Amino acid sequence: MADAGVVLRAPGDVALEEIVVDDPGPGEVLVRIEATGVCHSDLHVVQEDGWGHPLPVLLGHEGAGTVEEVGAGVNGLAPGDRVVIGWHTACGRCASCARGLPRHCRRPPLAAGRLHRRDGADLMPVLRTGTFATRTVVPAVAAVKIPAELPSEQACLLGCAVATGVMSVLETAKVWEGARVGVIGCGAVGLSVIQGARIAGAAEIRALDVDERKREQALRFGATHTEPGPVDFVFDVVSRSQTFEQGLGLLASGGTLVVIGLAPAGETATVELPALFARRARIVVSHGGDHLPHEDFPRLAQWALDGSLDLESMVTRTGRLDEWSEAFDVMQHGNVIRTVLTP
Ligand SMILES: [Zn+2]
Ligand SMILES: [Zn+2]
Repeated sequence: MADAGVVLRAPGDVALEEIVVDDPGPGEVLVRIEATGVCHSDLHVVQEDGWGHPLPVLLGHEGAGTVEEVGAGVNGLAPGDRVVIGWHTACGRCASCARGLPRHCRRPPLAAGRLHRRDGADLMPVLRTGTFATRTVVPAVAAVKIPAELPSEQACLLGCAVATGVMSVLETAKVWEGARVGVIGCGAVGLSVIQGARIAGAAEIRALDVDERKREQALRFGATHTEPGPVDFVFDVVSRSQTFEQGLGLLASGGTLVVIGLAPAGETATVELPALFARRARIVVSHGGDHLPHEDFPRLAQWALDGSLDLESMVTRTGRLDEWSEAFDVMQHGNVIRTVLTP
């Protein structure tokens, strides 16, 4: 059966089409995708005409599936292994990796030239993954084995939303036990921040969102309040001028604002420098929670299995790959935490 994938062919032109998937090269693996979450970043890629990826682009970056083939020199992975695909991998060679900071790698590896349109043109997979597809090829370091008991429909969320949210708390911010935490934007990433804050032992977790349904929903994931108040950490999952400014305003003395969301091109915010100084505030950017797939996915999967991390309640909508367009619509206008698509 031919492979298929959702391709951004030209600005504004997205379609599910037949694609060609080559065998994996040295150090690469071919994965049959069983489930893929629909993340805002894919919409961002469409709206920003590729968001730096050369067109044509294969969408999707939050996938789980089964290894079908491994390339030469791949150790520790074999056909039949169930894996989550990670986009925030490390090359081991760039300046950050050389400094012992693989979580800040500047050049995550790409399995280049393995995916094509039917006419042979190379497809660039979003964030080096390309999971809105029946199969994809990724560097072996991007495929992380997960326990057989964790269903792919839940496991795929570890690949982006959950890793980003939970690790923003544990790695980027290093939230301490007893801290007061605020979260602006309570979609899949925001709810993952809330769950991460719960795991970290935060004493107060304030869920802030313009949508009252989302604030109420957040209480089921561990939020303790749904109104603003002074906090030690604010996570801005939305990243618009208003949320950034609101976040800064909530910080207690010595507090940290963590910017997680992707702002649209040209977005700016105003910072009152004297207030920043008086509060000794810190502003840090979380790049996907600075997660490292092979270190973090196994512990996140274990927390999901032992009940400390609720993945099941985050999957509120499912569909087939050819329903990608409705999934984007619902993400923008409907009340959904995560849509997961299956081929
Ligand atoms: Zn690197
Ligand atoms: Zn994502």
